[in-house]
Amino acid sequence: MTAPLLTCRAVTCRFGGLVALDAIDFSVGEGEIVGLIGPNGSGKTTLFNVVTGIYAPDGGSIAFTDRDITAARAQAMYRAGIARTFQRSRMCLPLSVFDNIMIGNHKRLDHSLVFNLVRRKAFAAELRRSWEEAAELIAIFSPELAARLDEPAARLSMIDRRRVEICRALISQPRLLLLDEPSAGMTHEETRELMDDILTVRARMAGLTIVVIEHEMGVIERITNRCVVLNYGRKICEGTFAEIASDPRVQEAYLGVA
Ligand code: ADP
Ligand code: MG
Repeated sequence: MTAPLLTCRAVTCRFGGLVALDAIDFSVGEGEIVGLIGPNGSGKTTLFNVVTGIYAPDGGSIAFTDRDITAARAQAMYRAGIARTFQRSRMCLPLSVFDNIMIGNHKRLDHSLVFNLVRRKAFAAELRRSWEEAAELIAIFSPELAARLDEPAARLSMIDRRRVEICRALISQPRLLLLDEPSAGMTHEETRELMDDILTVRARMAGLTIVVIEHEMGVIERITNRCVVLNYGRKICEGTFAEIASDPRVQEAYLGVA
């Protein structure tokens, strides 16, 4: 592993009597694409929720670069450079594609009314810059989509909506991108397309580090450098795809056979 960007040490998260994460050690090196896998309910999304400050861990520590962010709230984690997508789509369908992307920009246009009235020219210029930035980003995924920034998101296909959601996470120029089941609800062909997009984005954004939760093993094999497997809130194994795929503990977790 390269120098660690994210380091979770003995991270524990409980919901009442349920231990959703049981002393998880999880590190991600700068520039890696790590696959986070495990059966439903094994704690994958909870780990993302803890790393993005949605839940405070009940035990353990989290460091990002060399900062301890264990107690940081979601906004602070985000500003530090951790962005994510959600397992269930979070699009605001009546809003435009541009607005849906800009929701993710922490430097977004949130000047006061006075600023907007007094400095309308400056505001217009800033808006134009943001528009160009969003268009440039989304064009990496699809040039056609870049021409549809002003359309309501409701008009987009599933795969295009997913692309917009990833752009929303990327517009803040994060160092770490967390993708929670990006291919959920998509056909094989769409999944393949989306994974190609993700690899293209990563090639363009040198240094972008990614953790992806994904059920399709073909996808995991193709895009990850390393995998971490959870089961019932515990890390049961980690390694390259070939290593984890041949591990009896992983086969048992997935198939119930040893
Ligand atoms: P995965 O993403 O691997 O499918 P989750 O992290 O969503 O699994 O869930 C892990 C376990 O924690 C499950 O048993 C789930 O029901 C439980 N869980 C997750 N979030 C909550 C919550 N907010 N309240 C109570 N239980 C939760
Ligand atoms: Mg989940």
